[in-house]
Amino acid sequence: MAIEHTFSILKPDVTRRNLTGKVNAVIEAAGLRIVAQKRIHMTRAQAEKFYGVHKERPFFGELVEMMTAAPVVVQVLQGENAIAKYREVMGATNPEKADAGTIRKEFALSMGENSAHGSDAPETAAQEIAQFFAGNEIVG
Ligand code: ATP
Ligand code: MG
Repeated sequence: MAIEHTFSILKPDVTRRNLTGKVNAVIEAAGLRIVAQKRIHMTRAQAEKFYGVHKERPFFGELVEMMTAAPVVVQVLQGENAIAKYREVMGATNPEKADAGTIRKEFALSMGENSAHGSDAPETAAQEIAQFFAGNEIVG
């Protein structure tokens, strides 16, 4: 298995409740390394670009509002098979369907306020990382 990088966002429901450290502890316990991290307040333009793939979906407006309502923590995670592994660590999009011990099961409030984002494929991981980090900000 290859060492991969994936892009993570700890969403506003996490920063608002002061849970960044608790979520990071789950990430690190799973063997993923946080090799870049910063807390930002996403602009509307950044959120619309980031979630552009969903722009025709009925929840798009709500999603952009939610992502810009409070700070987020953007991260690059490194590890073996990191993209699929982080999706497992996050759990299902709907927290009611997420497995016990996953970030979304433990912390998410709803389908929208579901605590974490993780890239779904190598191409999206590379694009998403490049939207928020310069190469020299990623220190493995
Ligand atoms: P993410 O892309 O954030 O990692 P995901 O890949 O599990 O999540 P997507 O289908 O890509 O899920 O949806 C992106 C995000 O949009 C979800 O994480 C959630 O915050 C929001 N979302 C998805 N479906 C709904 C819905 N039906 N109602 C409200 N918000 C939704
Ligand atoms: Mg997604």
